[in-house]
Amino acid sequence: MVRILVRIESRHADNSPCTHSVKPSGKPRDPNSGCPGRTAFAVVCSEHGDVGNLHHVKAAAEPAARDHRDEHRTALAVR
Ligand SMILES: [Zn+2]
Ligand SMILES: [Zn+2]
Repeated sequence: MVRILVRIESRHADNSPCTHSVKPSGKPRDPNSGCPGRTAFAVVCSEHGDVGNLHHVKAAAEPAARDHRDEHRTALAVR
């Protein structure tokens, strides 16, 4: 059985992943890191890739990630 992972990923304005350390405001902690700033959160599934739309706050991305995990749980249960 394939283990499915649903995680929340930070994104820049151009939709590239932000792996930098950023302040809660989304601004980079290190001005020399080259980070343009985090603007959104994406829900990423190991099976489906990006799930739904981008979220502007993490508090909105978390329930979306939970819902998607639940969908997988339901799908596995009927299989
Ligand atoms: Zn960044
Ligand atoms: Zn999925």
